[in-house]
Amino acid sequence: MPYPSEHSSILHPDFSTSGGDGQQGRAPSVGNLSAEKSHAGYRREDHYDDISTDLIGRNVKRILESVGEDAEREGLLQTPERVAKAYQFLTQGYAQDPRAILTKALFREDYNEMILVKDIDVFSLCEHHMLPFFGKAHVAYIPDGQIVGLSKIPRIVDVFARRLQVQERLTMQIRDAIQDVLNPKGVAVVIEANHMCMVMRGVQKQGSLTSTSSVSGAFMENPATREEFMRMIR
Ligand SMILES: [Zn+2]
Repeated sequence: MPYPSEHSSILHPDFSTSGGDGQQGRAPSVGNLSAEKSHAGYRREDHYDDISTDLIGRNVKRILESVGEDAEREGLLQTPERVAKAYQFLTQGYAQDPRAILTKALFREDYNEMILVKDIDVFSLCEHHMLPFFGKAHVAYIPDGQIVGLSKIPRIVDVFARRLQVQERLTMQIRDAIQDVLNPKGVAVVIEANHMCMVMRGVQKQGSLTSTSSVSGAFMENPATREEFMRMIR
């Protein structure tokens, strides 16, 4: 598994046990609320804000009614709150600073070969339809005096993915954050993803992937270095 850190797991929030636990005894607050849940294999942290839950929920209810649903029927009663929490989870990257995450985990090291973290799970939302796109990211860099804790690379991918995105910008933002903080000899990022806005609406054949890449430094200047990276992620 490419996820060495408990923070980087992306799990479908299970709201079945959360009936009301976002409200109980909590005053409305602008800060994030945190509910930690322990399970056998992982720890998950969810951050919800009562004001956002209420506001998003009310609008989700309006959407339900607008598509012709009966928002008061039993199966939909909790849906606005669940959707409101799901969207807060899926957009939590706005509140996180990727550069700070990297800065905290820098180490001085003379290693100057390529470091590659491949097959990182990516789950994001396209900003045009707010529908999921998901796939794999491969991130490599060639250090120049300092390296970063390996678990931070999937975390950076998560921070940018948990925002409304286009795949091209997501790819560049990951590259730029690593380039800016580590100042390495080069960074290469490839993302291959499946876009639900295309698959579900029949624009794209099921299973076809959109591939984006973004490189800097040695990966841009030296074709052999870039080819080595491309070979390693095949
Ligand atoms: Zn879309």
